[in-house]
Amino acid sequence: MFEIRERDAAGRIGRLETAHGTITTPTVLPVVNPGHQDLPPVDIARLGAQAVITNSYIIHRTPRLRRRALEEGVHRLIGFPGPVMTDSGSFQMYEYGGRLDPLEIVAFQRDIGSDMGTILDVFSLDADRARAEREVAQTLERARDSAPLKGDMLLACTVQGGTYADLRLRCARELAGVEADLHPIGGVVPIMEQQGYGDLTAIIAAAKKGLPPHRPVHLFGAGHPLVFPLAVALGCDLFDSAAYAKYAQDGRLMLPEGTVRLAELEELPCACPVCSLHTAGELREMEPGERRAALARHNLHVTFVEMRRIREAIRGGWLWELVEQRARSHPRLLEALAVVQRKKRWLEQYEPVSKTRALLYTGRFSLHRPLIHRLHRRILDRYAFFFDRTLVVDEEGKPFTRRHPEWARLRANVLVRGPLGLIPLELEDMYPVAQSVFPETLDGPSRRVADSFSRRLLRRAPPVVGEAPGDAKDFDLRKIRAVADVQFGPGAGEALFSGEPEMVKSSATGKIRNVYCDRRHVASLRAGDGLFTLKLAGGQRLHAALPPPRLRVVLHPDAVPFVTEGKSVFAKFVVDADPQLRPYDEALIVDRQDGLVAVGQCRLNRQEMLAFDRGMAVKTREGGA
Ligand code: ZN
Repeated sequence: MFEIRERDAAGRIGRLETAHGTITTPTVLPVVNPGHQDLPPVDIARLGAQAVITNSYIIHRTPRLRRRALEEGVHRLIGFPGPVMTDSGSFQMYEYGGRLDPLEIVAFQRDIGSDMGTILDVFSLDADRARAEREVAQTLERARDSAPLKGDMLLACTVQGGTYADLRLRCARELAGVEADLHPIGGVVPIMEQQGYGDLTAIIAAAKKGLPPHRPVHLFGAGHPLVFPLAVALGCDLFDSAAYAKYAQDGRLMLPEGTVRLAELEELPCACPVCSLHTAGELREMEPGERRAALARHNLHVTFVEMRRIREAIRGGWLWELVEQRARSHPRLLEALAVVQRKKRWLEQYEPVSKTRALLYTGRFSLHRPLIHRLHRRILDRYAFFFDRTLVVDEEGKPFTRRHPEWARLRANVLVRGPLGLIPLELEDMYPVAQSVFPETLDGPSRRVADSFSRRLLRRAPPVVGEAPGDAKDFDLRKIRAVADVQFGPGAGEALFSGEPEMVKSSATGKIRNVYCDRRHVASLRAGDGLFTLKLAGGQRLHAALPPPRLRVVLHPDAVPFVTEGKSVFAKFVVDADPQLRPYDEALIVDRQDGLVAVGQCRLNRQEMLAFDRGMAVKTREGGA
């Protein structure tokens, strides 16, 4: 019922199927009050809402609403034909106390036809540890008891655990074993009210680590666009917003970078239809009800524009840039980036191998992006030096050898010192070495990241010399071997290009495009990201040389005939995979006996391939092995 269509950072564009329609995630569900509405849900839908959320607790406790909901269904009750999620009243229990039967409210949500119903979890914030632990245990018990009652409704089982990251992780892991369909992260509203974005980041990361990747994650109560880019980059798929209405009630306008009071505005800094057709003065002079509706419309416009921007950032591969830009809006968001930077090893597993757009530096957090962490890791683990001496030179433009073609002829390992640290000359075209933009001078913390990597590389390098003689002639061969090693792992360059490789270069750019060995097309070097696309002949060479599980995606026998014909691999037919594979890595598709079936490009990492039962795991390039 959920699948990944596109991805960037740990964020994903997904398709979530419900009984009343399919939702494209990430998205925001505006909160609709079942009793009275300033903005009718049809208007909300026109502004961009694909689904809405309403409170089953309020419906349940109001006899008139309860009767109608049971007779006509929740969709008719609130006047929204699309997907409707219901909340259970956990927040109301926390705020105002009271009694509610946790199983009765789940059955009630099912009976009124909710598409996504929520368990009555126990909201633990500001609780001491012992109490938080008790409340997690209670939440888990309710989740287990609720699952058999869900019927056709998708069941949302909430992750609790207060501000204790280890409790959040434990709760998430336990919920993974419950027959749930999606997972809200609960109890974060008070944290967001205090702008504790660092804590929020740690909580999301802990929950995501424990939850199975194929279930959508909903950040409960996060309705301000300010947190959307960060939360999506960490893997949140759904949000809900009561804020659009609450802020409107309060005379406040949401903006992507914060909130402003209408009373303090001389001009409206927004291009939405409301702000285009009215002046600040006109909005102030409206009747209260009319003004609330106008401000609510504006707030929803801003909310959905930001979501569209985020989805475009995912498609275009610039989500981290957006997160870093938005973090400049508030010092607490900068603190959150400091937490993100400590999570880069975890985030790296989800990060695509390359992007269609250059990596843009925005400040001191950019060098901590998971992609740069991976570049450094892969060079340290996979790059093999060619000569017995090393020369260090300073970058003077990219690609390195265009300005200094003589470097390619030196009989030494040439390491080029630039913003990313020391990069082996052969990797000059590889993403993001060539495809990144940095300022002339780098800030201190970024330099330290680059220097720390450089020191580790130098420790492995043959002795550094002051100069080197120049008569090496095989730079192209070294280049394809080095890129193959760093892309596919140690030994790959040797395996792919042994014998006498023949290189076909682009007549326009002079760059290597295709590599043939024994007259067979082994691989193509992509102009955009300087990485290889594997051909079947190349796959056969890697398969023969590299032992399992390296680069392997293992197919269920039922799928073998289809993938042999060139059909792509769907996640439900993946039996196992190399844990080192990342989204957009090239892969060897094999049967259970390790017979090569096809070559292709991953869309998911191993954990995702094993968890998802919908969507593509590997895009097959060439079958018939
Ligand atoms: Zn506006």
